[in-house]
Order: sequence, then structure tokens, then C-alpha cells
Amino acid sequence: MEKKQFKAESKRLLELMVNSIYSQREVFLRELISNASDAMDKMYYRSLTDENLSFNKDSYYIQIIPNKEERTLKVIDTGIGMTKDELETNLGTIAKSGSFAFKNDTELKDGHDIIGQFGVGFYAAFMVADVVTVISKALDSEEAYKWESTGTEGYSITSYEKEEIGTEIILKIKDNTEDESYDSYLEEAHLKEIIKKYSDFIRYPIKMDVTKSKPKDEESDEYVDYVEEETINSMVPIWKKNKNELTDEDYENFYQEKRYGFDKPLKSLHINVDGTVRYNAILFIPENTPFDYYSKEFEKGLELYSNGVLIMNKCADLLPDYFSFVKGMVDSEDLSLNISREMLQHDRQLKVIAKNITKKIKTQLLHLLRDDREKYEKFYDSFGRQLKFGVYNEFGANKETLKDLLLFYSSKEKKLVSLDEYVKRMPEDQAYIYYASGESIERIEKLPQTEMVADKGYEILYFTEEIDEFAIKMLMNYQDKEFKSVSSGDLGLDEETDNETDKDKQEENKELFAFMKENLAGKVKDVRASKRLKSHPVCLSADGDISLEMEKVLNSMPN
Ligand code: ADP
Ligand code: MG
Repeated sequence: MEKKQFKAESKRLLELMVNSIYSQREVFLRELISNASDAMDKMYYRSLTDENLSFNKDSYYIQIIPNKEERTLKVIDTGIGMTKDELETNLGTIAKSGSFAFKNDTELKDGHDIIGQFGVGFYAAFMVADVVTVISKALDSEEAYKWESTGTEGYSITSYEKEEIGTEIILKIKDNTEDESYDSYLEEAHLKEIIKKYSDFIRYPIKMDVTKSKPKDEESDEYVDYVEEETINSMVPIWKKNKNELTDEDYENFYQEKRYGFDKPLKSLHINVDGTVRYNAILFIPENTPFDYYSKEFEKGLELYSNGVLIMNKCADLLPDYFSFVKGMVDSEDLSLNISREMLQHDRQLKVIAKNITKKIKTQLLHLLRDDREKYEKFYDSFGRQLKFGVYNEFGANKETLKDLLLFYSSKEKKLVSLDEYVKRMPEDQAYIYYASGESIERIEKLPQTEMVADKGYEILYFTEEIDEFAIKMLMNYQDKEFKSVSSGDLGLDEETDNETDKDKQEENKELFAFMKENLAGKVKDVRASKRLKSHPVCLSADGDISLEMEKVLNSMPN
């Protein structure tokens, strides 16, 4: 019998699993059940495209069998099974499954949290078992095989007898006298609880024999035990359930079961639409920025289901780029199962759904901004930059959708404010929305250019990100108020139009200015007297529409 080693990455993950702490271990069952469900989905999908296969819903189920004497827990499914090759590639390496992506080594080292919050796939079995055995017969194979592993030691694959197509997973539950919590994975009641908690919406029945008791006969006080098979899960997918029946925790569990992220959802959005296009959707705004979010690797998209069957993992057409951070799924009865990627792009239904979803996300964000400022700022901290890119990209085509969602740091409030808040507070004589650009809030505060505007009692928005000013330029104005940089030549203040004194000052200092100009040749275009200054002797100002900061960015861009 050949013994094989796990790939290095898998090995490290396995070590992590073995040392995971108590409360996180129970997710192993969720992982095994969701794999079983996936395997049956694959069978269903095949039956739709293969005439020789028929799909009888009753023959698809998951069975859970605990055995205290043997300390084994079996998870049996009637799914598509695995060939010898598939056992090798799918269970021999985690990189294959795509379910697990580490940012870096440090995350792996203190990765305990990952296990609890996030799916880790098949390997989770090693959190509770010393030995994991997988017996499988694939639809596409005459033979059945047995895969077995004690974890870090490696694994073996041998031939095995099995009649029916499907997979049987046997866990030899750890026996640890110091930590008796392992025993609970052999207890019916606890297993029931875990199944209900994580796998209630699985669309196939999860069956388990449950011991019950009843009176011996009608008159008797004596009870006798009997065993009855029960379907533990309600089988209704969460997105088809009534919103009122669901709690935040249900959505959170769904987010984790679906592996939408390492974090928790900041906000969940449940949509049931029964109009001309019918669809259900569960969408999430994640709490944290995914590590690859602002990189080329990041792929946006929602899961797409056709009447409960997954047809695409990441349907990009459902989300505009500026809401690419949204995770979740859409299920529609009106989509054809055999629809191809190319067809989808032209599908009218899909376009309607996408438009509708975009609108709902925007409304949700506006509500959050209005009703839960703290949460909105958390969101903005993670994804605000993407909104600003959204305003700037496509030549400002999305500015109407996004302008109310923007926040900028305010000189007056010393915190983030919306443009609406800014405009509402503007004194009557203020004509523009003022902003100042710089590397940081501290540096902007020291800018001499801000003095005069601030002195007038006007609020200044601080732009600390390069994209800020670009986005504003696209926006041009907000509620008919134009944006103006504090470093622009004309600030539009009354004081500045007092040209007579300006001229006098200019005349008086003619020689000095000429001398300065000569010495600063190539660095400045002109040296002039200014009323903009109070405590500072001198400041730089830009002539045209573009601020100094923006000029810096433009100059640093490759041509
Ligand atoms: P993921 O489910 O994210 O792909 P897993 O580690 O849970 O990752 O599983 C790895 C792969 O092993 C699956 O993609 C699937 O191909 C295969 N697999 C696991 N369990 C089963 C099962 N019960 N039946 C058929 N295939 C399975
Ligand atoms: Mg899985």
C-alpha cells in the first residue's frame, strides 16, 4: 500500500486544525455537510445535461450516524462521488479546492480565528478526529476506493467494495481524557444542535436516527426508548425564508458557511422581488477590506442560482465596479439552467436584476449613513475609496448615484462629513465648497492657504487621498455649489476683489518681488502680494483649475 505525503501548505493547515480551540471545532460538520450537498448538486446538474441520468429527489440525502461504542461519526451522501484521481487531488491538497487562501504566514500562525469564522473545507475533520476515512464511488468509475489519513502523517488510497454511487466519511473521534468536549460529537442532541445552527438551509434532507421515549402503554407511567429517523434541517434555503423568521445570527452563519469573507458582515440585505422579474437575493457588505481588494487579483461578483441550483460562482455582471465589495447570492426562477456565460451577458432579466440590486444597495447605504453613522464610517473606512473611484471612472457616469455617499474630513467638525451636511451648514454669503489637499490632516491644518477661508468661518474639506480631488473634479458641483481649492488663484472671497490696495502693495514691493522671482526661476511663475495670509508670511497658490496637490499627482504619472 502506498503512503503519500500532503503538500506543504496542507500540512501546515492540518497542524493548525489539530490545535484549534474548543468552540471552533464544531464547524467540521458544516464543512462535511456542505461538501455532501455540493456533490449532490453536481449529480443534479449532470442529470440535466445527460439524458441517460434521471434525478429522483428522494434518493438524495445526507445521513449522520454517531456510534459511541466505536467512537465513530459517519457522514454519508448519495452525491457524485470521487474517482481515485479525485480523491488524490481533492483531498491531498488544499490549494486545489480554492476554499482556502492565506494572506501570509503570520495569518497562518495565529490562524485560530480563521477556523471559527471561516470555512476550511474537508480538513476541518481533523479538528475532531484522529483518523479520517473516505469511501467513495464516483458516477464515472466502476471501482470504489478508500482514502485514509491520520492527519499530518500523510494518506493512503486503496480499492474498496461499495455498491452505490456516493461518499461515506468516517471520523474516528478523538479520545482525550483531559478534554471531554470531543465526546459531544457523538451525542445526538449536540449533533442536532450543530446541524440546525449551520446547515439548516441545505436543500437535501440531513437524516439522523434519534432516540426518543414514550409511555409503555396508555395507562403506564413507565417510559420506553425507541429510535426514529428524523430529518434535522428545514431544507428551505435561507433566501427563500421570510425575513421576519431570520435573525442577524442566521445571516452571519450564512456568510460564514458561504465563505464570503474572513470577517463578519457589517450589514446584510435580504431581497425578495416578485415583479416582472422574480428573484431572491442575500447581499452582504463586509466589515473589512479583503486583502486583495485594491489589487488586480480581486474578482467581483455574486453567486448566481437558477431556482436553487448554483450555476455560477462569481457573476460579475450583477454588480457595478463601484459596489464590487458586495458579497452574496442571487436566485432567480426566470433564468435558464443551461445558460452560458456569453448568453448571460446579454440576458435581459439579468440586467434588470443587476439594476435593481444596485439601487437597493445604494438605498441601504444611505439608510446606514442616516441611521447608524458609526457603522457607515466603518464601511467608509473599508470601501470609501472605491466609491470615489466610482465617481471618477467612466467619465463620471456614476456620480449621481454616488455623490450622496461620499464623506470627507471637515476642518470644522474634525470628523467625516457628507457633502449634504456641508452644504446645509454653509453661511449665506459662502459661494463655494472649499477643500484643501495634502498628505495628512495634520499637514493640511498647517497650510497657510487654509487661513483666510477658515477665518471667514467657512468649513474646509480635507482631501488626504489622491483620488479625492479627481473625484471632485468629476462631480464639478454639489447642490449647485462649485468646489474650490483653497490654493486656487481666485478664492471667490469678497476681500480679494479689493484690487486697489492690492495694486498699491504690489507697487510698493515691486523690486523685492522681482528679486524673488528671479531667484525662484523655474519654481514659481509669479510673486504677488496676497491678502490670503494671516500668520504665515508666504504661501503657494495655483493659477488654474488644478490644485498644487493634483499637479503633483499629474506630474508623477507616467506619460
Ligand atoms: P471546497 O468544498 O471548498 O472545494 P473542500 O476541502 O471542502 O473544499 O473539498 C475539497 C474537494 O473535495 C471538493 O471540491 C470536492 O471536489 C471534493 N469532495 C469533498 N467531499 C466530497 C463529497 N462528499 N463528495 C464528492 N466530492 C467531495
Ligand atoms: Mg467544502
